[in-house]
Amino acid sequence: MATKRASQTKIGRPVDTAVFPGSFDPLTFGHVDIITRSAEIFDKVIVGVLYNPSKNLLFTQEERVALIEKQFEKYKGRIEVVSFSGLLVEFVQSIKSRVIVRGLRAISDFDYEAQMALVNRKLAPHIETFFLTAREEHSYISSTVVKQVAMLGGDVSNMVPPVVAKALAKKYQERKGVGRRSDSR
Ligand code: ADP
Repeated sequence: MATKRASQTKIGRPVDTAVFPGSFDPLTFGHVDIITRSAEIFDKVIVGVLYNPSKNLLFTQEERVALIEKQFEKYKGRIEVVSFSGLLVEFVQSIKSRVIVRGLRAISDFDYEAQMALVNRKLAPHIETFFLTAREEHSYISSTVVKQVAMLGGDVSNMVPPVVAKALAKKYQERKGVGRRSDSR
């Protein structure tokens, strides 16, 4: 039996703005790819950087936003970076969008992502979640892996844009300096 939704023929207005939310701690080539591909589908992509003080993040809110802005500075107007806190659906509504974009790397991402999409649909039925599958060559990349490699001095140049690789090197250099100073006390 067809569901009410599937059998209805009323089609709403198309959406021109999509939201790609995340922590981006830090931005990786996986994120860059999803943002770029979304911008080829939607007129405008808002990269929503979640402000979550309870999460233990390496980069501050301002630093995460600045790194994404730097990477996409050529696309101002098409790709914008906005901080948000609280409920994602409220943020999406506040900027008059109806589409959440998420990236899927593996089946392991699916459980969590499908659950979040269903919760968001319960909260705001008119908002849709779009999933883009990660490119094969990015499917192993996560912000966590990037931080682990960078912390140990490994090469992350094939996982993050140069601006992020530089910021990571600086961050861990500063941390080493702080560690050394407190060791010598
Ligand atoms: P969150 O804490 O919301 O998961 P992330 O910054 O880790 O924030 O991820 C934001 C989005 O980017 C998520 O949809 C995630 O699945 C997607 N993503 C992360 N890494 C990749 C990747 N390598 N390829 C494609 N999508 C990715």
